[in-house]
Amino acid sequence: MENKQTQSNFIKNIVVEDLKTEKHKEIITRFPPEPNGYLHIGHAKSIVLNFELADEFKGKTNLRFDDTNPVKEDTEYVESIEADVKWLGFDWEGLYFASDYFDEMYDRAVLLIKKGKAYVCDLTAEQIRAYRGNLKEPGKESPYRNRSVEENHELFERMRKGEFEDGKKVLRAKIDMASPNINMRDPIIYRIAHATHHNTGDRWCIYPMYDYAHPIEDAIESITHSICTLEFEDHRPLYDWVIEECEMKAKPQQIEFARLNITNTVMSKRKLKALVDERFVDGWDDPRMPTIAGLRRRGFTPEAIRSFCREIGVSKSNSTVDAQMLEHFIREDLLMKAPRTMAVLRPLKVVITNYPEGQSELLEIENNGDNPEMGYRQLSFSREIYIEQDDFMEEPPKKYFRLFPGNEVRLKGAYFIKCNDIVKDKDGNAIEVHCTYDPQTKSGSGFTERKVKGTIHWVDAVSAVPAEFRLFEPLILDDQTEEDKSFLEQVNPNSLEILQGYVESNLKTAKPQEKYQFFRHGYFNVDTKYSTEEKPVFNRIVSLKSSYKAE
Ligand code: ATP
Ligand code: MG
Repeated sequence: MENKQTQSNFIKNIVVEDLKTEKHKEIITRFPPEPNGYLHIGHAKSIVLNFELADEFKGKTNLRFDDTNPVKEDTEYVESIEADVKWLGFDWEGLYFASDYFDEMYDRAVLLIKKGKAYVCDLTAEQIRAYRGNLKEPGKESPYRNRSVEENHELFERMRKGEFEDGKKVLRAKIDMASPNINMRDPIIYRIAHATHHNTGDRWCIYPMYDYAHPIEDAIESITHSICTLEFEDHRPLYDWVIEECEMKAKPQQIEFARLNITNTVMSKRKLKALVDERFVDGWDDPRMPTIAGLRRRGFTPEAIRSFCREIGVSKSNSTVDAQMLEHFIREDLLMKAPRTMAVLRPLKVVITNYPEGQSELLEIENNGDNPEMGYRQLSFSREIYIEQDDFMEEPPKKYFRLFPGNEVRLKGAYFIKCNDIVKDKDGNAIEVHCTYDPQTKSGSGFTERKVKGTIHWVDAVSAVPAEFRLFEPLILDDQTEEDKSFLEQVNPNSLEILQGYVESNLKTAKPQEKYQFFRHGYFNVDTKYSTEEKPVFNRIVSLKSSYKAE
């Protein structure tokens, strides 16, 4: 496995202290996704943090589905989340569903009622909002706030039995309508929803709210450090209140960290789902999506994603990371691993007029110039080859060192060729270029008498394999803030370019998920959805160059 950073951060410091003072003997963390969509790179940050933190201190991490909202949740999402966490390289201790704790949550709510700490409220959602007040004004107490314990208990049971319609009643914690923290102004802890749940079916028609459910889930699993994103900082007093008043034995500590934002990337399941539903992309695993499934199909590796998550670190203030940083880590990971091969994305035929017709030869070429251990392979060469259209110009500008009439260039791993003639179509576009080659200049022969300035890549036309190439640009044009509702208008209409070209014959048997460097074009991954045995389809993971500098 790649180098794990053992950088300290404020969360690790808390853990170290808690172990030292023996507040905890063992660290238990959890990753608690709601199964309402596929995981994205932001979740990866939380996964790496939770799993590696526990692992470093010989603790445990649970995978827990926070499935308290039946309407949006689905088993498809449960399955994809499990697969993605595993693919990222992590193994959970326990696999739990918040919905398995519904009975206990209900019992604890009854306990709150009996303690006079919760009441059934008949105000409408709108009234509750209005009564809540704002940052300047205290809230107003609900007229139902002083119902007796007996009445509350009876009404809550009737809520459970399904006697009331959605929205007619809620259960609220009885805390403080004048609290400066609005979250403490008698928050709703249960609501009525006559909906079928992916796990509990129709057993329940009341569902706990996140702020009530989450601390109970954590406490049931004896989570020691419950790590969440900064938006929940103001919810922490409520988290602690629930733990205390529900008389939970374990006392997990909520710790907040800054969520990951990346330039030109939307990072919320709700928005990503909209991109899928509105068909801007061809599914959750579209290679342009920042989902784990999309990154995997694009060709990112778990190693690269983990390294990225460690590098961005853990902090208390929100910021936006440049998308190029993620690209840096996949280049770094593939540099030594990916075979370097030839692909021509926009082909132009070159005929080598002094090479015998019907003849071909095998040239030996390194698989990876930076990694001699990867050895050599054979590359066939013959009278007709393809080069890139933009490696040839009839009237070149200054400092153009590639092929043009009268100029000589090096074919990577093969010979020098010199351009003598152009065959044009009726519109005057070059459709074929005629060259001669110099047999003395064979790569590896030690020829030094002449130098050429340009080296271009090529594939042998006789044996080349037709292939499709998919090049990507950012899916979102502008930087998006989480609040932005109009992000669909910012979808880049040119985020996908599909090209038909050729790869060298060695890639005839390329299998989905195999990764290659194509000389001068970047790193590519064989697509899992569109690639066939007859015609491989390659997704460009990243180009070769980046302006990002790792510190
Ligand atoms: P989304 O808005 O995408 O649905 P969420 O926070 O509601 O995100 P959950 O499924 O509830 O998604 O999140 C599971 C865990 O992942 C939570 O602990 C959450 O804090 C964390 N998480 C989600 N998004 C990010 C992010 N962008 N950066 C870091 N952690 C994140
Ligand atoms: Mg959510």
